[in-house]
Amino acid sequence: MNNQLLPQDLNIYLKLASLAQQGRIPHAMICHGRQGSSKLALALKFSQYIVCENKQGNEICGSCPACIKSTKMIHPDIHYVFPVIKKEGKKRMDTVSNDFLPQWRASVLSNPYISIRDWMKELGADNNQPNINTKECNEIIQKLSLQSYESPYKILIIWLPEYLGKEGNRLLKIIEEPTDNTYIILIAEDLTRILGTILSRTQLISVPPVRDGEMLQVLQDDYHLEATRASQIVSLADGDMGAAIRMIRTTSQDYSQLLFQWIRRSYKSKPEDLTSLINTIANLGREEQKNFLQYGLSFFREYLFLIQTRKRGPRLTNEEYDIALKMQSIVDMEKCYHIVELLDENIRNISRNAHPKITFMAMSMQMGALLKGEDLSPVNI
Ligand SMILES: [Zn+2]
Repeated sequence: MNNQLLPQDLNIYLKLASLAQQGRIPHAMICHGRQGSSKLALALKFSQYIVCENKQGNEICGSCPACIKSTKMIHPDIHYVFPVIKKEGKKRMDTVSNDFLPQWRASVLSNPYISIRDWMKELGADNNQPNINTKECNEIIQKLSLQSYESPYKILIIWLPEYLGKEGNRLLKIIEEPTDNTYIILIAEDLTRILGTILSRTQLISVPPVRDGEMLQVLQDDYHLEATRASQIVSLADGDMGAAIRMIRTTSQDYSQLLFQWIRRSYKSKPEDLTSLINTIANLGREEQKNFLQYGLSFFREYLFLIQTRKRGPRLTNEEYDIALKMQSIVDMEKCYHIVELLDENIRNISRNAHPKITFMAMSMQMGALLKGEDLSPVNI
């Protein structure tokens, strides 16, 4: 997947390639976009283009030694810097990106849309504050002052320069006056967290969120999801391809089935039917429970749109649309607002480690009462 750009990113890639052909690659640039956009994938592809020994126009050859090494992220002239935590057996101040390079490569190759949370999870770090430290900055300066190894070019990719903080000042000089044939590509999500002095010295390249249609295509073609599940994930991911990939890896259920079953049983309020379903949900694990509730939330938002505008939103599948039409006799706008609140509140509860069975049981009672228009006051759990 690392090797393929989405059709929507092609324009940006072609612009960069054309700058390269004119010998006008900016010495320092920031590819920025929301979490889960293609900014890192684009930077990897463009780096490959720069070092490819056999490129024809905009085309990368894909088979020269430089291409092979860069697709495996082992090209000696493409350097990677990213936020890290203390490495076991080392002091924090002595730990740098290279200490985690194999894990970084594996993570990015399997998901170039990786988020900082995914990365911290990969490092087994829950509460540690990642950063890019002084030693790293000094090493960057040193690396870039050395001769390149195999390519005439040296490329430095800094993922999430937001984590540089004030250390970024140490890099100003190399960003302003880099050595010849050296390119610095920063991959950022939040420009407000980057020093103004860096921003003013770099060319900004804005990368849009992944479009629903293109994400759907990837989920069906590359991940072989069937259409209904792919659409559910697209609607949950909301332009964040990394989130979609995370969901594919944690999701085992068709959420629409589960949601409608849960709503039906909550409405009927038969304790034995509810208990068995809640046990199923409790066994899913916390990530999936959150995904499930998120799915419910996005369904009811679409539903709200439908009853407000009488128009079918693009994210509603045929099955969901049929159910939504039937639901109209029971769930009016007022009830729908309350359901959205209920789901929203319980996503927070589950995230805060609330007990799943108790949470889902309380939620089911509230849902049942809501649907029957009995009692809208929240149940304390
Ligand atoms: Zn090549």
